[in-house]
Amino acid sequence: MPPSVKRKRGEGQWALGYHEPLNKNEENKKNDDGLNVRQRIIDVYSKAGFDSIDPADLRGRFRWFGLYTQRRPGIDGGKTGSLPDEELDDRYFMLRVRIDGGQLSPAQLRTIADIANRYARGTADVTDRQNIQYHWIAIEDVPAIWEALESVGLSTMEACGDTPRVIIGCPLAGIAEDEVIDGTPQIHDVHDRYIGTKEFSNLPRKFKSAISGCTAHCTVHEINDVAFVGTVNAEGVAGYQAFVGGGLSTNPMFAKSLGVFVKPEQVHEVWKAIISVFRDYGYRRLRHRARIKFLVNDWGAERFREVVEKEYLGYALPDGPEPAAPLPRRDHVGIHPQKDGNFYVGFAPRVGRVNGDLLNVIADLAEEYGSGRVRTTAEQKMVILDVPEERTRALADALAEHDLQVNPSTFRRQTMACTGIEFCKLAIVETKQRGMDLIEELEKRLPDFDQPLSININGCPNACARIQVADIGLKGQLVVDDNGAQVEGFQIHLGGRLGTTFGKKVRGLKTTADGLADYVERVVRTYDEQRGDGESFAEWV
Ligand code: SF4
Repeated sequence: MPPSVKRKRGEGQWALGYHEPLNKNEENKKNDDGLNVRQRIIDVYSKAGFDSIDPADLRGRFRWFGLYTQRRPGIDGGKTGSLPDEELDDRYFMLRVRIDGGQLSPAQLRTIADIANRYARGTADVTDRQNIQYHWIAIEDVPAIWEALESVGLSTMEACGDTPRVIIGCPLAGIAEDEVIDGTPQIHDVHDRYIGTKEFSNLPRKFKSAISGCTAHCTVHEINDVAFVGTVNAEGVAGYQAFVGGGLSTNPMFAKSLGVFVKPEQVHEVWKAIISVFRDYGYRRLRHRARIKFLVNDWGAERFREVVEKEYLGYALPDGPEPAAPLPRRDHVGIHPQKDGNFYVGFAPRVGRVNGDLLNVIADLAEEYGSGRVRTTAEQKMVILDVPEERTRALADALAEHDLQVNPSTFRRQTMACTGIEFCKLAIVETKQRGMDLIEELEKRLPDFDQPLSININGCPNACARIQVADIGLKGQLVVDDNGAQVEGFQIHLGGRLGTTFGKKVRGLKTTADGLADYVERVVRTYDEQRGDGESFAEWV
């Protein structure tokens, strides 16, 4: 090879023969499958305690069962990234329960609530992927928690880690008057066939799926690794369009449509083909390039589809129509009719924060006023199903007594916050309490503002609360205040819109955390004064 010709460096793709691990994470996965840690937790770690845990399990394989060490209390954001793990790690865990499709029976909700009160100091947050997240979990209690969850058909398996994580779905699947198709059978199909199998327990990185026929596109398919979105083909048959390669974080990309039509009964095999392409061709050399979006971006949708069809499916999919445009608000808050004549009641806990007692109250109300069925949403909200029309108002009043509002202000309805410094080891700033305080402040200062406007708050440059697709995205960082001191604050991104534009990072536009309410109030007031008829925030900005 002439010296001027450089050999292109491999990306660690298994399909191209790179089977030797090229980094520590890949090495750990090769040394032992993440799913094997379950038995060690039951047999060894839960009995011998925190200090007995092998570090490769503690900071690696535990994630395959939804467990992360949480941040040791009292360590400020300035130290994030500079302290060794041993100093940042608390001896307690965050534990994520996967709720595929966000669907909960009364028994499941009560079990989740009881675990929160018994083992998690009451903590329970509804995440923006329809999961429930606990904190303060001791390793000694994990087997009992699993037993309780499994007794009602729930689990924490592959809730985190380089795995196919929770499959999100519309909370109104099967009941919405206007849905294109009920995605529930397809969610079960994929879940029951592939979750927890070693076929897909060693992926290059996490893999987020969504399957839904919701006309509001509430599962935000644009930012999932794979998404099946309900559509109707030229013959009037309902099925799905497939999207691949969406994701946010530090290199945000919207998913690309494969341009196919997938019949409901084919979803599981198309999902399997797509995740197999990711497993085999995904980049494993650099972790920050390992999400499927980088592969899709390099290949393009056409080549990706060709590989799916020729190498994995063994047949070509027909072309299919794109789904109809989404509604302006994608949540399911408020009182709305179901197709069976009953009503659903969607309500807004502030930034997804609930607790064990509150979840028990919600289970009680769901049984008293409806059939008991409850759903979580991908916007950190919840929905009670099957309520007769004449009881909806009474249910709304009963929920309001617990600060769960059915007709919330825009701010309560559309503000999301990630876990932040309270528990997250990557965080630089506090988010949940700040989000709750911000909502309260804006409700006081702007009581009449009723336009759609999303405010998403992240505790670090990652994108767990989707700052890049919010109208006002707040990225936690340290900033310098008027006195020259480094304090908690936010870099501001403006005008993000799912599927269309990422919020613009306005150079130099930052606010201290203390000045946050003033800043947001100013922006919202100016928008409200200047906006044209029907002009959205993203268009105005
Ligand atoms: Fe933690 Fe950052 Fe994600 Fe927030 S955005 S939960 S601070 S990693």
